[in-house]
Amino acid sequence: MTKKKNEMTIDGEIQIKYKWSLGKAGERFFTELRDNKKIMGTKCRQCGRVLVPPRIFCEECFVEDMEWVEVEPKGTLMTFGDSYFSTDGKRLEEPWMLGIVRLNGSDGGLIHFIGEARPEDLQIGMPMEIVFKDKREASIMDILYFRPVKD
Ligand SMILES: [Zn+2]
Repeated sequence: MTKKKNEMTIDGEIQIKYKWSLGKAGERFFTELRDNKKIMGTKCRQCGRVLVPPRIFCEECFVEDMEWVEVEPKGTLMTFGDSYFSTDGKRLEEPWMLGIVRLNGSDGGLIHFIGEARPEDLQIGMPMEIVFKDKREASIMDILYFRPVKD
């Protein structure tokens, strides 16, 4: 990226180490993802909504009356975006893309990277599938990205 003559910037770096408790729902979700390549959600027994990522309570019904359900690693592209800039503002040759995919059998959506596609290949409503990492370690990055389902 070329800078304009008068453009003023401040370069800096912030490193933050933290631990975030996964909680009951997160532990099950990430264990199934790591060990079995399964995407688990929780279903509210009162309203029937299936939450992915799972929660141990339904914030619509204010109850903890939930059951575990497995959802398909496939779904529908709800929205997406692309960027030709890295997180530190450098211009990129190839864009990176993010999308929200509603997995089949769930309500809501999972946000993640999109791969094996160009922005012009994507359409809201198209079928997408999860590509899993080979060596998983109980992280959301065990999902490499979503890609369009090939015919
Ligand atoms: Zn509910």
